[in-house]
Amino acid sequence: MLILTNVRVYTPLDTVEPATLIIDQGKIVHLRAERHPRGEDLKGALVVPGFIDIHIHGYGGHDTNSGEPGELLALAELLPRYGVTAFLPTAVTAPHEELLRVSRAVAEAVRAQGDRPRGARILGLHLEGPYINPEKAGAQNPAFIRRPSWEEFQAYWDASEGRIRTITVAPELPGALEFIKKAVKLGITVSIGHTAATYEETKAAIAAGARRATHLFNAMSPIHHRAPGAAVACLLSPEVVVELIADLVHVAEPILELAWRTAGTERVALVTDAIPAAGLPDGHYALGGLEIEVREGVARLENGALAGSTLSLDRAVRNMVSLGVPLPQALAMATVVPAAAVGAGELGSLEPGGRADFLVLDRELNIQRVYIGGERVI
Ligand SMILES: [Zn+2]
Repeated sequence: MLILTNVRVYTPLDTVEPATLIIDQGKIVHLRAERHPRGEDLKGALVVPGFIDIHIHGYGGHDTNSGEPGELLALAELLPRYGVTAFLPTAVTAPHEELLRVSRAVAEAVRAQGDRPRGARILGLHLEGPYINPEKAGAQNPAFIRRPSWEEFQAYWDASEGRIRTITVAPELPGALEFIKKAVKLGITVSIGHTAATYEETKAAIAAGARRATHLFNAMSPIHHRAPGAAVACLLSPEVVVELIADLVHVAEPILELAWRTAGTERVALVTDAIPAAGLPDGHYALGGLEIEVREGVARLENGALAGSTLSLDRAVRNMVSLGVPLPQALAMATVVPAAAVGAGELGSLEPGGRADFLVLDRELNIQRVYIGGERVI
């Protein structure tokens, strides 16, 4: 049994202080505003739910497209350093055989982790493509982009043993709406992204069951006052959770604020879209078979297009706070909102009976400790 006392707990949206937190058998068994004489005194440190990254391609050289379960497990062991206790490995558009290998690798890695992961929990797979619009490829390799094919997708679903939790689709593609309906029936969250869809086409996708927007504003028809486009349709639809890359490079600060004020905390999920080169020095790297250059931490293709990020989720939270977002709300966007958005509602908040995945932060929101299933990993 672990007893931590004299902490300020963010559940995330409620604050409990000075709190005592008791953990037993991987669960929180007690959380109350009181001091405990036998608890470890953390002197007012902050305790928050572990962060959940639902859009990440890698970090520290580990690549989610490698097709190697060991790479996913190594990534899982690295991510707690940045406060991440659960994540959805995200595959970029790639040849059929590669996506099959990626799907198999995720199934194997999830099995290897079991109930007691050595690092961040692997939640399944996010397929970012391959059914996206080549005009809005961003840093996805256009050579491997294709039209929606349910038959092909079923091969990934089977290979992943039903672990695909999210697929990013461009709604304007032929057959996309039918595809979305079928995916939703399987319990998959369909995310609208890499799209030139009009407002109306986007609304049709939402009516078909799409519930998320992949990195809102990036690789998407933008806001225009006479052509509102996909971003506006997603922002104005109460069913849709929008991903934001809050590195202050992908989206300008006032637009981050606009998204948060329009969608509200409960519909914004902070994501990193981090690439394998994140956490490594500046230099030349590959992403989905394309050459990229990372300079001063910003990754771009040769044509200048942004190519994922080198962001970490703890930095994204600090960035949102720096824009004036209250801390509980900034935390919710990295915890409870993304958890619910991928059907992992058992994670992302701190409450008695819930899993003991949490962080201890100092007042500047730097990570001091990380616990997963009640075990200290950092
Ligand atoms: Zn991505």
